[in-house]
Amino acid sequence: MKKIVFATGNKDKMREIREIMADCEVEIFSMKEAGIDVDIVENGTTFEENALIKAKAIAEHTDAIVLADDSGLEIDALNKEPGIYSARYMGEDTSYTVKNRNLIERLEGVPKEQRTARFVCAIAAVLPGGKELVTRQTMEGYIGYEPEGENGFGYDPIFFLEEYGCSSAALSREQKNAISHRGKALRAMRDMLLSQW
Ligand code: IMP
Repeated sequence: MKKIVFATGNKDKMREIREIMADCEVEIFSMKEAGIDVDIVENGTTFEENALIKAKAIAEHTDAIVLADDSGLEIDALNKEPGIYSARYMGEDTSYTVKNRNLIERLEGVPKEQRTARFVCAIAAVLPGGKELVTRQTMEGYIGYEPEGENGFGYDPIFFLEEYGCSSAALSREQKNAISHRGKALRAMRDMLLSQW
């Protein structure tokens, strides 16, 4: 059975990747389950670079296939901020209530058609022989005028989807996984891996 180590400590991400890879012959471990504990400096300039930096750092500690992701929110009217700094925007310890309010304030006076934004997710893989695979997927939307919705996390309450007429925090987990940047990237990576086996 092939082994995958997914470079995350996040339980939701582990559940999502296990669901998406359920029909593949693989065992999936979190870093903790694999007994790997490394401090990684994410000093890339793109989502793809950061995902690959993480995957390569972990690949040094295991013979398994290593997957790592990097994600964030790009707001066009703010020069694609917060981008790769999404988690660090206004400080790691600042609540998303405050971060989301700040972003809405920074867009004051910006009309709807210029409030376009996207969630981005890059997933990188390093295979046992050292081969690298990367995919970058997005979910397109716009920044609303008021936060909305109780589900999701992070910037979901201010990120609105034209086709649903609500924020991504108003979607169920299943609805969001079907269209999200991370869901798309995980499925794309699964297909890339399967074509290598
Ligand atoms: P990371 O890639 O897990 O470090 O996530 C980066 C940051 O991007 C998160 O902390 C959130 O601020 C933001 N982010 C990424 N994906 C989502 C999402 O699906 N909803 C809301 N915020 C997200």
